[in-house]
Amino acid sequence: MPAGNKFDVIVIGGGHAGTEAAAASARAGARTALVTHKFETIGVMSCNPAIGGLGKGHLVREIDALDGIMGRAADMGGIQFRMLNRRKGPAVRGPRTQADRKLYRLAVQESIRNQNGLEVIESSVDDLLILDGRIAGVVLGDGRQILCGAVVLTTGTFLRGLVHIGETKFPAGRMGEEPAIGLALTLERAGFSLGRLKTGTPARLDGRTIDWSRLEMQSADDEPVPFSTMTDVLPNAQIECGVTRTNARTHAVIEQNIHRSAMYSGQIAGVGPRYCPSVEDKIVRFGDREGHQIFLEPEGLDDHTVYPNGISTSLPLEVQREFIATIEGLEQATILQPGYAIEYDHVDPRELYPSLETKRLAGLFLAGQINGTTGYEEAAAQGLAAGINAARLCGAQEPVHFSRAQSYIGVMIDDLVTRGVTEPYRMFTSRAEYRLSLRADNADQRLTPLGESLGIVGRERSQRFAKKKALLDSVTERLKAVSTTPNEAQQLGIQLNNDGVRRSGWQLLSYPDLEYADIARLQPELASVPKDIADQLKVEATYSVYLGRQKVDIAALEREEAVAIPGDFRFGDLSGLSIELVQKLERVRPASLGQAGRIEGMTPAALSLILGHIKRDARKVSPGIRQA
Ligand code: FAD
Repeated sequence: MPAGNKFDVIVIGGGHAGTEAAAASARAGARTALVTHKFETIGVMSCNPAIGGLGKGHLVREIDALDGIMGRAADMGGIQFRMLNRRKGPAVRGPRTQADRKLYRLAVQESIRNQNGLEVIESSVDDLLILDGRIAGVVLGDGRQILCGAVVLTTGTFLRGLVHIGETKFPAGRMGEEPAIGLALTLERAGFSLGRLKTGTPARLDGRTIDWSRLEMQSADDEPVPFSTMTDVLPNAQIECGVTRTNARTHAVIEQNIHRSAMYSGQIAGVGPRYCPSVEDKIVRFGDREGHQIFLEPEGLDDHTVYPNGISTSLPLEVQREFIATIEGLEQATILQPGYAIEYDHVDPRELYPSLETKRLAGLFLAGQINGTTGYEEAAAQGLAAGINAARLCGAQEPVHFSRAQSYIGVMIDDLVTRGVTEPYRMFTSRAEYRLSLRADNADQRLTPLGESLGIVGRERSQRFAKKKALLDSVTERLKAVSTTPNEAQQLGIQLNNDGVRRSGWQLLSYPDLEYADIARLQPELASVPKDIADQLKVEATYSVYLGRQKVDIAALEREEAVAIPGDFRFGDLSGLSIELVQKLERVRPASLGQAGRIEGMTPAALSLILGHIKRDARKVSPGIRQA
C-alpha cells in the first residue's frame, strides 16, 4: 500500500464493472486500489458463460478499442465464437462467444495483476468516508480506513441481495457470497433514491448425465473472429452446444407449481429483466407456444457443468428436478446447483452526471448493475467510463462525456442518466439512432484515437491501430482513384449495366453483388490487401451513401450537446415551462441542451426557452467538457 494509506481512486467490487474501472483508472495514471471480497472471484461470471451478443458485442469491441480488458479476456476464454445476425446488415451483427468460465476469470485476473499502478485489497467495504459533502475514503470490513480522492462503487447484485429458491429465501450477493448491507445503508443515509430489481439464473446440470446423442448440436463459426484487435490467434478449441426445447409436459409441471415460484407467490417485489425472462414468465406469458428453445452450453473445456440457457427459475428445487426431467435429452440429468432468483437494491441512475459521478456526493462514481443495468458487457462499459472519469477528477481534469453519436457506451449512459430505469436495462442495437456508423467492426476507428488522447491506450495498440488506419486510408484512396467502364469491367469478369458510365472502384464496392475480390481485379496492388481490411472496406463502401445523410443529423446533435446547461440553472424560474417539465428537468438536471431534449415529454418550445435563458445569462457552452 502506498505511503499514507492513500490512493487517488478506490474501486469497490471486482466484477465486470469494477475490473474495467480499476484498470482504466490506473491506465489514466491514477494510483488506484481495487477492493473486493476475494482475488479469486475477480472476473466471475454470475450467470451465463458467454460474452457479447446483439448490441452487447458492440460494447465489448468499444471497451477493447479503449484498451479495456473484456475483449481480450473473452478471446482467451472463448470456446464457441459466433457472429449473430450474420445474414443481416453489418450494423446489427453481434459478435458473441461462449466462454470457459475458469479461463475467462483467469484472463481477467492476469490483466489486473499485470496492471501498473493498481493494487488489489481483499476485503469488503462497509462504509464510505464523507467529508464536507464529498468522498474522502472507505471503511473496510475490519474497520481500517483508506483515504482517496474518488470512489467507484460497482457492487453488482450485492446491495441488500436476497436469494429466492421457491419458498426459501436468504441474504446473499450471489450464491454462496455475503450481501453488502452496510453500503446500502450508507447510500440510503446519504439520501440516494434506491429501487429494487431482480434477476434469475437456471439450475446447472452435470453434462455427463445429458443424452447428447438425441440433441441437435450447434457449432462455432468456421472462421471465428476475435473480439480484440490485439488477438492474432484464438487459443482454445471450439466446442459445440446442444439445443433442446420445453414441451407441453414441462409447461404443465410449471403451471401446476406456479404458486410456489418466488416470483409468482408475491415473495419478490423487484422487477426482472424483460429480455431475459424466467421460464415461469415464458410459460405464463407465452404459454400457448409449442416449446421454448434451450441451449445447453458447456461451462468449460475441462468442466462437466452445463448451463441450460433459457430456463432461469425460482421454483423449489424438487419442481426444478421434475420439469427438467420432462425435457428431451435431460430426462436423467443431475442438477449440480439449483436455479435461483436474486433481488437487490439499485440506485436511480438519474442521480448521476454523464460522467457517472453522483450529483449527491462529489467524488462518488457508480457503475454496473448498481445503476439498474443487467449484463456483463453493460457493466464493463460503464466501469471503463467511470474509471476514466474518477482518475480525471483526481487529476483535476474535466470529465469525458461519451456521445450517442460516437459510441454505444454513450447511448447507454445517456439513456440511463436521462431516462432512468423501470426494469433492468440491457443494450440493443435498436437503442442507437446512429447505428449505421456505430458498428462493431469500426469501434477502433471511432474510439482508439479518443483513448489515445486520454492516455489510456498502450503503445502496442496504438502502433497496430496506426498501421491499420494507414492501410485503410491508402486502399480507400486507391479505390476512389481507379475507375472502369462497363466494357472494361466485363473483360475482367465484372458484370455491370451497359450504360457507358465510368465508375470508381469505391462506387463498385458499394454494390451488393460485388465483393472486394471482384474490385481488386481492377488493379494488381489492390489484390494483396488482408481479408479483415477488405471486409471492412466493403462495409464502409456499402454504408457510405447512408453515412453521408447521417452526418447531418449527427452535426445537429453535436450542436445541441455543445450547449452546456450550468449546474445551478434554475428551471423553476422560467415562466412558460409547465410544472411537470420543471420537475422532470430538476430530477435529471441535464448537462446539455441535447440531453434536455431527450427527456420524455420535452417540447421544442421548452428547449428554445431554456436556450434563450442560457444565452441571456451569457453562460453558453462549457469548453471544458470533452465530448467523446
Ligand atoms: P458483479 O459482477 O456482481 O460484481 C460485483 C463485485 O462486487 C463482486 O466481485 C463482489 O465480490 C464485489 N462486492 C460487492 N459488495 C462488496 C463490498 N461491500 N465490498 C467489496 N466488494 C464487494 N445478466 C444478464 O445479462 N442476463 C441474465 O440472465 C443474468 N442473470 C443473472 C442471475 C444472477 C443470479 C445474477 C447474480 C446475475 C445475473 N446477471 C444476468 C447479471 C450479471 O451477472 C451482472 O449484470 C454483472 O455481473 C454485473 O456486473 P457488476 O460488475 O455490476 O457486478
